[in-house]
Amino acid sequence: MAVSDAVDVVVVGAGPAGSTAAYRLAREGARVVFLDRMSFPRDKPCGGGLTRRATRILPFDVSPVVEDVVDKLDVRLRYSRMTHQVFRDPVAHMTQRRRLDHFLAERAAEAGAEFRDHVRVRDIETDGVLPVVVLDGGERITASVVLGADGANGVSGKALGLGADRMFGVALEGNAPMTPERERIHRARVTLELATVPGGYAWVFPKGDHINLGVGGWASEGPRLREHLSRLCRAHGVRDDELSAVRGHRMPLRRAWTGVARGRAAVVGDAAGLIDPLSGDGMFEAFLSSELATAAALDVLAGRAAGMEPYGGRLRTALAGHAATAWMARAAIERVPTLAWHVLRTRPAGRFLAHRLASRPPEVEVPLIGGVERAARRVLGPQAL
Ligand SMILES: Cc1cc2nc3c(=O)[nH]c(=O)nc-3n(C[C@H](O)[C@H](O)[C@H](O)COP(=O)(O)OP(=O)(O)OC[C@H]3O[C@@H](n4cnc5c(N)ncnc54)[C@H](O)[C@@H]3O)c2cc1C
Repeated sequence: MAVSDAVDVVVVGAGPAGSTAAYRLAREGARVVFLDRMSFPRDKPCGGGLTRRATRILPFDVSPVVEDVVDKLDVRLRYSRMTHQVFRDPVAHMTQRRRLDHFLAERAAEAGAEFRDHVRVRDIETDGVLPVVVLDGGERITASVVLGADGANGVSGKALGLGADRMFGVALEGNAPMTPERERIHRARVTLELATVPGGYAWVFPKGDHINLGVGGWASEGPRLREHLSRLCRAHGVRDDELSAVRGHRMPLRRAWTGVARGRAAVVGDAAGLIDPLSGDGMFEAFLSSELATAAALDVLAGRAAGMEPYGGRLRTALAGHAATAWMARAAIERVPTLAWHVLRTRPAGRFLAHRLASRPPEVEVPLIGGVERAARRVLGPQAL
């Protein structure tokens, strides 16, 4: 059984959270190993939409892997009534995760992080002075800090006793070829279909040579997702047999703002359950949490902090307000969809949406905002509690 020398940080998972954490740490001179169980480039079920707030927080430009720039939004209600918004500036950049994640991992490796793909982490031991990451095959890597960035179905949360307070939504998506007609309708435009999937919505995203169609909602909608996706396809003139790469995945959402860091370990991104409860986006939250966890890890490495716990507080301050407004909007869309759709058509709502998609959320006091979130979730019922 091989035993590696201790490194500063092991990052488990090389998705958006893991690769950007590895990049930021390596750039500051830390000795970082980041691992992924898949061989890269690999795909991941995801719409691949990077909101402007997500690209803004990234420490480098991702335009080499951007396939479309979105400045138009159509919001439809029950596949019929339609509202159009045209924004002054782009609100999202469309990517494919196969290309984006490979690009992010390459940036981290260029910055000096050691990337090992096709390596599955089996366990993380925390009973010694330093955490030990155990790989399939038995190799053990000792690290001063471990970041769990292994997504919705990873092992690090369980192994570290972190990120447990998550609930899960589900989503299913597929791709249809871009045709001249689809080019005319969908280029630079995102379409959202409200009041179509309980606890969520349906979407159409434009990419380079295809459109991405997807549906997401409460976990209980799992058995009906195929049906929802077929309905979406019909509404957009896409035959079922045109759809390729149909894949489903879980979407983890936080129930409480606790349990994301302990001692010399923390979880980030989906491993921490940080998906936006309104939009289902998680890449902005993955980038933000990796930025905050990286800062905390550098403090531990420099002896300025004893553990990763300060990351938990900073994450709560950074995201609790954002999550509360998301739950409120979701409750409105779910309970009074027609009214919510009429509100969305108004100019102030359009301005608010553009601002939300483009900006880092304001930091807020948690006790007050926690109550707002709980109230919105109660309105949504047991599936949101
Ligand atoms: C259908 C769907 C559509 C979505 N659309 C969007 C969208 O358009 N925009 C958006 O912002 N978000 C979207 N999301 C959410 C987004 O995909 C996630 O929030 C995001 O991928 C989280 O990044 P992450 O780095 O935390 O985790 P992931 O991207 O899941 O990366 C985790 C990595 O860890 C690796 N891993 C897992 N277990 C192990 C192990 N034991 N050992 C080693 N490695 C391991 C995995 O192989 C993976 O590469 C969507 C989600 C779904 C399901």
